Order: sequence, then C-alpha cells, then structure tokens
Amino acid sequence: MRSILVRITALGAAVAVLAAACGGGGGAPTQPSPTAAPAATAAAKPKFELASYQYAIQTKGKLKVGTREDNVPFGLKNPATCKFEGFDVDVVREFAIAIFGAEGKADPDKFIEYVPVVSATRIPTLKDNKADIVAATFTVNEERLKEIDFSTVYFRTGQKILVKKSDTTIKEVADLKGKTVCTAKGSTSEKNIAAKNKDAKLLLLDSYPPCLIALQQGQADAVSTDETILFGLVKQDPNTKIVGGYFSDEPYGIGIAKGRTGFAPFLNKVIADMIADGRWAALYKKHITPVSGDVKDGPHDKGRPGG
Ligand code: GLU
Repeated sequence: MRSILVRITALGAAVAVLAAACGGGGGAPTQPSPTAAPAATAAAKPKFELASYQYAIQTKGKLKVGTREDNVPFGLKNPATCKFEGFDVDVVREFAIAIFGAEGKADPDKFIEYVPVVSATRIPTLKDNKADIVAATFTVNEERLKEIDFSTVYFRTGQKILVKKSDTTIKEVADLKGKTVCTAKGSTSEKNIAAKNKDAKLLLLDSYPPCLIALQQGQADAVSTDETILFGLVKQDPNTKIVGGYFSDEPYGIGIAKGRTGFAPFLNKVIADMIADGRWAALYKKHITPVSGDVKDGPHDKGRPGG
C-alpha cells in the first residue's frame, strides 16, 4: 500500500514538472505540412451559411475548446507529448475536421485551441467567451440549460462510489452516512451526493485525481462521480474498487454558449454521423474499453441495468 502511494505521489510530481514544461493551454506546436497545396485545401473546405457560427469559426481558423487536463479517459494533457488526448478530445477533433475539411483531417490540432477547464469553470468559460465549446464530461441538465446550450447526448454514464479495496463498510450510497466523500466542486456529483445522503460529509476539490490522493492519504473515505471517470482512477490505483449501483443518470453533451446560430444542429449532425458510421464505437474501443472492459456502439446504451 505504502509503496503504491509513494509511487503515485512521485508520478504526480513528475507529471506536474512535465506539464509545466508543456507551457500554456495549447498542444505541441504544429509545423505546417511541407506538402500542403494551398489551392487544393482551400477547395476542400466545407461550405456553410454565412450567418452560421461554424462559418465564423472557419473564418477565424480556430475552434476554441474547453477541456480537462487530468480526466482520464476523457480529457488529458499527456505530459510526455504535451498533446491532449481522450474520448472528449477525439470527438472535438471530429468537429474540427467537419469545419476545416481536408486540412483539418490532416492535422485537427492545428485548428484547435485547448482551454483547460475544471468542473466549476465550464459554464463561466463559455459565458466569458473563452471557448467556443466545452467538451468535458459535461452532464446536460435543466439547471445548466438555463445558462448555456448543449449538443445532443454523445455519452451516457451514471454516478457510483470508489473506495479503497480493503474497505468493507461502504457498499452503497446509504453507507456514506458520517463518511467523508470527495468529489469535484461544481459537478453534478456534488449535488447528487448531497441529495442522496444528507449525512455524508463532502470534501470538494477542483478535480478527481486530487480526490484519489485524498482517498489514498485517508482524508476521504470515498470518491464519488461518474462511473467512467472512476474507471480511470481505478486504472491509476488498483488498490481501489467501485461499489454499488448507479444512483444518477449522467448524459454528456457538448456545452455551447447561447446565441450561436446553427451551431448546435451542426455539432448534432457530426455526432449522429459518428454513431452511424462506427467512428463513435472506434473511439469507445480506443479510450473507454481499456478502463471499462466493455464495448458499446453508441450513447443510447445506458449501461448495465442495476449495474
Ligand atoms: N458529469 C458530471 C458533471 O457534469 C460529473 C463529472 C464532472 O465533473 O465532469 O458535473
């Protein structure tokens, strides 16, 4: 146990050093392709209504995307490559390809500016116009829809509980009475715990890896959030386990500021095409299967009943 803790802490320190070496929010600088033929790529750009937001982005030449730096398997800034990766990041790359055409396909990151977010900064990032979209395990709900728009649902999961493997006292949400549960500030996870067990004590941090450290160091008895995020934490620390069934439904959408003409239907079409032609299933296999062990072909599958 101790050796794992030391290893993870050391890894955390190494990640922090390397992340600092990556510099600001963007990915690695991209070199222009020496073989790119300007006339051909200009011709390959999709045509949009002039009033549409996708046309405005195409004209600007960049899609600004709010995403996570530490949320495996959805959004991670890889300290070894300084590049963003994960399910959410690859979905966003499909949007860049749909906006920028052949040149986007050759190097989607050339057209994406990544803006790091945490749970609590997702809505302000959109409202303050710091990003065009937020792709960050972002649950669609009524309360959030009052402030921003969302795309259609592109991923679906539900909330569960993570504890140390040695824990025999916490098996479901009712067992959290008097226990300290760590989750991210500004998340639906925070609200769900408060609603499902008013006697649980909440430890609210910026994101989920710090909650894992709190669990390892005994400052928290459990971590609770979406199951797929917990899968990523179990992968980081095999001395933990997920317990109990789902106690919420978490349908993810792409966050969009209000008033972006034509943009939500455009993103919805890209998502529908990805599901129909198997790109969605391929991304699930690439990013989610290694931590979950299952396969899915679309967000319509709500997971294992009672799971
Ligand atoms: N999906 C939930 C939310 O949107 C929890 C995960 C997260 O914090 O990203 O708040």
